[in-house]
Amino acid sequence: MSRYFQPEIETASREEILAIQNEKIVKQVKHVYENVKYYRDLMDAKGVKPEDIQSVDDIKKLPFLSKADLRDAYPYGLLGTDLKNCVRIHSTSGTTGKRVVAFYTQHDVDLWNDCCARAIVAAGGSCGDVCQVAYGYGLFTGGFGLHGGSEKVGCLTLPMSSGNTERQIQFMMDLGATIICCTPSYAAYIGETLAEAGYKPSDNKLKAGIFGAEPWTEEMRRSIEQSLGIKAFDIYGLTETSGPGVAFECEAQTGMHINEDHFYAEIIDPDTGEVLPEGSKGELVFTSLDKEAFPLLRYRTRDICVLTREKCPCGRTHVKMSKPMGRSDDMLIIRGVNVFPSQIETVLLNEGYTPNYQIEVDRVNNSDTLDVYVELLPEQFSDIVAENQKKERALEIAMRTMIGIGPKVHLVPPHSITRSEGKAVRVIDKRKLHD
Ligand code: ADP
Ligand code: ZN
Repeated sequence: MSRYFQPEIETASREEILAIQNEKIVKQVKHVYENVKYYRDLMDAKGVKPEDIQSVDDIKKLPFLSKADLRDAYPYGLLGTDLKNCVRIHSTSGTTGKRVVAFYTQHDVDLWNDCCARAIVAAGGSCGDVCQVAYGYGLFTGGFGLHGGSEKVGCLTLPMSSGNTERQIQFMMDLGATIICCTPSYAAYIGETLAEAGYKPSDNKLKAGIFGAEPWTEEMRRSIEQSLGIKAFDIYGLTETSGPGVAFECEAQTGMHINEDHFYAEIIDPDTGEVLPEGSKGELVFTSLDKEAFPLLRYRTRDICVLTREKCPCGRTHVKMSKPMGRSDDMLIIRGVNVFPSQIETVLLNEGYTPNYQIEVDRVNNSDTLDVYVELLPEQFSDIVAENQKKERALEIAMRTMIGIGPKVHLVPPHSITRSEGKAVRVIDKRKLHD
């Protein structure tokens, strides 16, 4: 079984990677300048010419692109090639507002599939595996991305898409799936459903899961690993850069290797745009080095994370990104305090609750309210009001310690919170309705 999908590039020396990046960026900037009027105008406004970019060190001279630019340029404004050269369109899941569309040539699809194939091999996948792809197929990138990667690796690919959990389980068992790919929240739901159907974790043949597309905590990882009896790997990506597979976790499970031969990553201060030194926490910015149809330069992801170049025991040399600590627009500001849903998830799982929760924020008499609904397992459920209240108070205290403000916790009966088959809806912010 091979450990790497493309060993030469995945374990290339720093100098080799830089040489590839430097060569690609010169060509890519020229390609964008010649073909994408929207970006040419931004470069002209900044007084930057393609000749000014001779290496990746010069990338910092280029203007940024943001989600607002993508919406402005919708649908064709950032297209880097004639539409007749494109073979595919995908769209963001619209978690945070209007969707954006991205285009792919066959070359773009191929390199994206390579990235996903690297992720699958890093999770232990090889041609003998049965890979169940339970990310949504369609405009969302998850299904098609992992599907393409799985076929490249040579796995027997089960294109299940998300949903229809009973059928997922039936095929998983009957066809002996060894790898499953879906959102972490859906993985948790599948684990829960398996247990309810009377299966033990050892009853399935799964060995690994590749989960991403939404934030999830280490606590959630442990809980999924236990419920499915697998090792759970993180995968990161966004439609704007192609989809999942921009970065993926190896067996070290300490951050995700960014495919640096295709994507150049920077960390910037989200307020000033200044590039921060290695190891700093800030907003992740990607420059696609060789995409043809949707060649975004300096795209601001709004995901907050840290990059490290510490030597990885897996032998891969590409830079690692930490789990995004929530995106800047996931962050809730409640009574002036910054709160990330992941902090609440950490408390819940540490205290022995399930990852089935929902956060509701509202504004009453000009003051923000924070309510957390937490679902109980049947064995945690009690008819005795005082007992539940005691548990609620204990959780409120634990959460206040973690986030700095006190929420109101409501324990709710088993199965009362809607399960997610794709990206989970963790937050309902009713304040937006009043604005
Ligand atoms: P949308 O912006 O509508 O959600 P996408 O489906 O393209 O569109 O989602 C990309 C975003 O999903 C990323 O910018 C990031 O915030 C989030 N994401 C993707 N993978 C992960 C991951 N492994 N961990 C945390 N967040 C992730
Ligand atoms: Zn590694």
